[in-house]
Amino acid sequence: MNLLIMGPPGAGKGTQAEVLVKELKIPHISTGDMFRAAISEGTAMGKKAKEYMDQGRLVPDEVVVGMVKERLGKPDTGVGFLLDGFPRTLPQAGALDETLAALGIKLDAVINVAVPRERLMARLTGRRVCRNCGASYHVMFNPPQSEGICNACGGELYQRSDDNEVSVGNRLDVYEAQTRPLIDYYQAQGVLKDINGDQAIDRVLRDILASLF
Ligand code: ADP
Ligand code: AMP
Repeated sequence: MNLLIMGPPGAGKGTQAEVLVKELKIPHISTGDMFRAAISEGTAMGKKAKEYMDQGRLVPDEVVVGMVKERLGKPDTGVGFLLDGFPRTLPQAGALDETLAALGIKLDAVINVAVPRERLMARLTGRRVCRNCGASYHVMFNPPQSEGICNACGGELYQRSDDNEVSVGNRLDVYEAQTRPLIDYYQAQGVLKDINGDQAIDRVLRDILASLF
């Protein structure tokens, strides 16, 4: 299946994606994770992206689009994929349509995880992420079995540098202005699946799977 998961920062995209890609045996393509990998590798693109990310601004479209085009061209996407965090602007959505058309494929579904804005600050400022595998936890809502240690791989948990109040505030404003319009875009394409993300993690997963099958 060729899938896309969207929603505001903190909606639970990464949390759900982690389980979905295992169930569906498809690669997880998270642009945020790709930028964080580039930052830890110290590449030129990583250095450029970090300036935008720390301020809670979007990395310029041409940088993201080029990176995703290259990724979708890799052979492992032949079985499908789950895009997470891309597209985030209408020009990115247009570029994705062109890329998919050139590959002769289409999106099967766009999973839109909706969560009221007032819930998102607490979710993001309490988020902890595994340095090794990227799994997402929360100090109160989804704590790991042992504090500071990933259940899945034993890696060290850390707090993302952009999960502070100032950056989160900017990211939520950017979402409203630039990313929310994509809901109508995919609704018009007839592929949108609206999911209530303001419920327990396993309930959200159940609703996503029910919308796909
Ligand atoms: P996104 O990838 O959409 O930015 P994450 O999946 O990283 O969001 O989730 C953001 C934070 O909210 C994490 O700390 C995560 O553990 C927590 N979280 C995810 N889903 C839920 C949920 N259904 N209820 C409460 N907290 C959640
Ligand atoms: P995320 O991990 O999805 O929360 O993304 C973290 C940050 O990476 C965002 O706040 C942006 O600065 C950057 N980023 C990730 N995906 C995109 C995208 N599709 N377009 C622009 N910037 C992005």
